[in-house]
Amino acid sequence: MPNTHFPPKGFSPLPYQEAVNAALVCTKCGLHATRNKVVFSDGPVPCDILCIGEAPGADEDAQGIPFVGRAGKLLTQMLLSIGLKRPDDVYICNTLKCRPPGNRTPEPKEILVCLPFLVSQVDAVRPKIIVLLGSPAMKTILNPSEGITRIRGQWYNLNVSYQTQPVRVMTIFHPSYLLRNPSSKEGSPKWLTWQDLKAIRKELETLR
Ligand code: SF4
Repeated sequence: MPNTHFPPKGFSPLPYQEAVNAALVCTKCGLHATRNKVVFSDGPVPCDILCIGEAPGADEDAQGIPFVGRAGKLLTQMLLSIGLKRPDDVYICNTLKCRPPGNRTPEPKEILVCLPFLVSQVDAVRPKIIVLLGSPAMKTILNPSEGITRIRGQWYNLNVSYQTQPVRVMTIFHPSYLLRNPSSKEGSPKWLTWQDLKAIRKELETLR
């Protein structure tokens, strides 16, 4: 069963600006030594919809803004296709705020040590919907026993300890995975993601 509560025991949110300031000078994991810029977020606080990706890539590390490279441009188009315009309509961040060298997959211990920032972001943004982009974000929040191909497209309720209503959570494929799998024929990752995006739009309309 995926997690139904967030944050994990022992984590409590810092005030938002305090979290931003702490992240900008953070040296809690080894990634601080190779980053150019800390990549905290893009979008307003609070916001109905929160997208969480994996970690910054080269373009994000250079600019200090999440999802600005090729995958970011695709994400921007995907959001626009359901009427969500960056940066006003959606808050975007990553599980890690610094780029892993060579874009390697984040290590569990890096995700754990960076988690207090994400906890503060979820607290401040107070989303109605969280969209998890790819497997590392899915594991960080839901930690399901199944893989992403089983979990994507499913709605889960997450009880966030500092919110009264459960947050609706859906995992979708990461845009960089979609760039590697460009077919849009029925049943393809792209086609499945379009179904997921339409479901997110519908849910957002229901919740507003
Ligand atoms: S990835 Fe997170 S924990 Fe590691 S140095 Fe960057 S902000 Fe700190």
